[in-house]
This record gives sequence, structure tokens and C-alpha cells, in this order.
Amino acid sequence: MARVSSPYYSKEGSVYHIFSDCSAGKSIKRSLKVAGRGNKKLCGACKGIKAGKRTR
Ligand SMILES: [Zn+2]
Repeated sequence: MARVSSPYYSKEGSVYHIFSDCSAGKSIKRSLKVAGRGNKKLCGACKGIKAGKRTR
């Protein structure tokens, strides 16, 4: 089950994440993780999970 999290993103990335179990989101170092959308695009993997497809 995909768990929806509050939006977060990496200071070094160009996308934001909405699932806590997104593999790309999981790899964000804690020191670079920021809450919010940061005016970025939704992560492709999160988009896939949202659409019901698991793209890992
Ligand atoms: Zn993601």
C-alpha cells in the first residue's frame, strides 16, 4: 500500500514527492529533505503510484 505523505522534496532535486515509500524520495538525505512542493514538478514515480501503477 502506498502511503501518502505530506509533500517533500530534496534541495538538490527538481521534483517533489507525495509518497513516503517512493524509492527516489527515500534516497533523499535527511539533511537535504525539505517539506513542501518547492515550486517543483511531481516526481514521476510518485505520479505512477498515484495512478495505481507501481513504478520502482
Ligand atoms: Zn517520488
